[in-house]
Amino acid sequence: MGYRLERKYTFTDDPASADVIVVNTCGFIQPAKEESIETILEMAQLKKPGAKLVVTGCFSQRYQKELPEEIPEVDLWTGVGEFHIIDQLIEKGVKSYFTNRTFLIGREERTIFNSPYHAYIKLGEGCNQKCSFCAIPSFKGRLQSRPIPVILDEVNRLKERGYRDFTFISQDSSSYGRDWGERGKLEELIEELDKISDITGRILYLYPQTTTPTLIEKIANSPTLATYYDLPIQHISPKVLKLMGRGDGSAERHLLEIMERQPEGFIGTSIIVGHPGEGEREFEELKNFLSAFPFDRINIFQYSDEEGTKSSTLPEKVPPEVVEERIAQLEEIVHKKEVERKARWVGKVLEGYLEGETPDGLFYSLRPTIFAPEIDGDILINEIETTRPLQIGARYRVKITQQAGRELLGTLI
Ligand code: SF4
Repeated sequence: MGYRLERKYTFTDDPASADVIVVNTCGFIQPAKEESIETILEMAQLKKPGAKLVVTGCFSQRYQKELPEEIPEVDLWTGVGEFHIIDQLIEKGVKSYFTNRTFLIGREERTIFNSPYHAYIKLGEGCNQKCSFCAIPSFKGRLQSRPIPVILDEVNRLKERGYRDFTFISQDSSSYGRDWGERGKLEELIEELDKISDITGRILYLYPQTTTPTLIEKIANSPTLATYYDLPIQHISPKVLKLMGRGDGSAERHLLEIMERQPEGFIGTSIIVGHPGEGEREFEELKNFLSAFPFDRINIFQYSDEEGTKSSTLPEKVPPEVVEERIAQLEEIVHKKEVERKARWVGKVLEGYLEGETPDGLFYSLRPTIFAPEIDGDILINEIETTRPLQIGARYRVKITQQAGRELLGTLI
């Protein structure tokens, strides 16, 4: 969308002065849907007379029948299949345009927002899993992986434009290539990425049932990829996992054990609290597991009933006040664990990209390659050893000298 729009418009951060405002929405769970609606309404208020408000993405795809009636202020509604023709749709002045296909980027050029050195790279779109709480496959469709040469071409072209750090994403990255009936394709892609010099990266969203010990080791041994494991386990109680349609937890435990053995690795996960059937016993099981396992990051999501999902029809619902209380308990554990886990970096040297000055102007911030952008934070630089002028977006080494709660501080060397 960025590239298509850039050819005809200039971008502004000020919605009130824009001729076109595009809101790209998420419709995954209740908080995402609420945020989407709030943003659409906020933009509707801000848009100047004659400007167009365009809403696109998962949320509008999912509720394409209801939304145009509910929010008439929107000038154009589109979904997940029209990103490549967004400029044409705006020009034609159509009110609503949806297809049943999810757009999968090919060799199109891209406009990258927000970073001079980092870009997200799609491995594919859609998902063939059947997690009973999840509505994503109903609006993103089945898995379609991008061919290896297309991904490599994108990385190489972005590298020529100065991008060096890449985060590889999809709904289910470890199933990459399984839509072609093949296994081991992600390992093959990693081997090819390793042949490109002077780039770094990480893969997000490994699905437990399709992640293998070989993949874990391939990531650990890759000179390009950080030893970064993002394995959303969602829960650990066999009863809840079975209700979620995600096995019984044995795959997760086995994989995490192998990940834990990899030197200097980073392990992150996501969990859902309050799924139907999560009684006191199941919650205690989850709490004990999260306390005991050395996760570097744990994202907590509150369960919400999603229309059309199997979980929304299940009995044994957990009352909202109980869910909130459980989340509060887990947040305490997560906070403590983050502080504990970060202590291991003190005294070590990490490599990362200089992000710029912190908003208060007191420090520089550097994101190590072992941290994912926008998720895992950064390191505050309070001392600089190099005499050369600093370059934002360049790669440096930082010696971690101090920890202050969840913050790490270091010397740029
Ligand atoms: S793997 Fe992720 S996207 Fe796919 S069904 Fe499960 S939760 Fe949804």
